Amino acid sequence: MMTPELRSLAKQFRISVLASGKFKSHDNLSNEGYLLELFRAERAAREDRQTKERLKQARLPALKTFEEFDTDFQKGVTREQLDLLAKLEWIDGLYNLILIGPPGTGKTHTALAIGNRAVHNGYNVAFHTMNALVHILKTQEISAKSKARLRWIKKCHLLIIDELGYLPVSRGEANFFFSLISELYENTSVLITSNKGFDGWAEILGDPVLAIALLDRLTYRCQILNFSGKGWRVANRKQIFD
Ligand code: ADP
Ligand code: MG
Repeated sequence: MMTPELRSLAKQFRISVLASGKFKSHDNLSNEGYLLELFRAERAAREDRQTKERLKQARLPALKTFEEFDTDFQKGVTREQLDLLAKLEWIDGLYNLILIGPPGTGKTHTALAIGNRAVHNGYNVAFHTMNALVHILKTQEISAKSKARLRWIKKCHLLIIDELGYLPVSRGEANFFFSLISELYENTSVLITSNKGFDGWAEILGDPVLAIALLDRLTYRCQILNFSGKGWRVANRKQIFD
């Protein structure tokens, strides 16, 4: 039975499973066995809370999985490669990942599956479109929200930047972007999806010299995957009238 004093002490020492009354041990346990079960339950509860918090912070716009990804349809990446990416060892090795290909070929899906897996495996993740990231960078001096978000990004193990190349960025924005990538270098893995090849990046960034310096940093330890095909949306187009 939980006496009020025990509950209050459990709260004071932050043994949440005990304080909430959720912990039920098996009968006939030794003192040691009981404590072991209690600590295990508390650890599981804490990990669960931390995962939920990291998932919130990651801001993944949708939950996608590797299992849902059809590698027969997509020729740019094999199941073996996807399995290797899913192990996430490349994040520990500070590799970057660049997914290039036309719209609808599964780049964002792959990025989201990686982000989701990483969150559940204890990594700090941030997901942003290139446009949103540029906005955060531009407003860091005038917006407390942007500043806080940037602090989180710099603490992350993995930064996902979706859709580089849909909209051009100004020279000032490109400089901000370059500074961030330089700062993350050697600390954070960067995953970028783009509908344009590297030649197109110089055009988007409006400065070939900056683009070369950026690619130099990004591709030093990096895997580049070229997604191809006519696109999942086109192949699976849904209509109102059949
Ligand atoms: P991209 O980012 O390359 O434009 P998305 O990843 O957004 O493409 O894919 C578009 C839609 O098609 C998404 O709903 C995604 O889940 C789905 N999709 C794309 N490729 C595949 C695939 N190979 N297997 C399963 N679903 C896919
Ligand atoms: Mg996309």
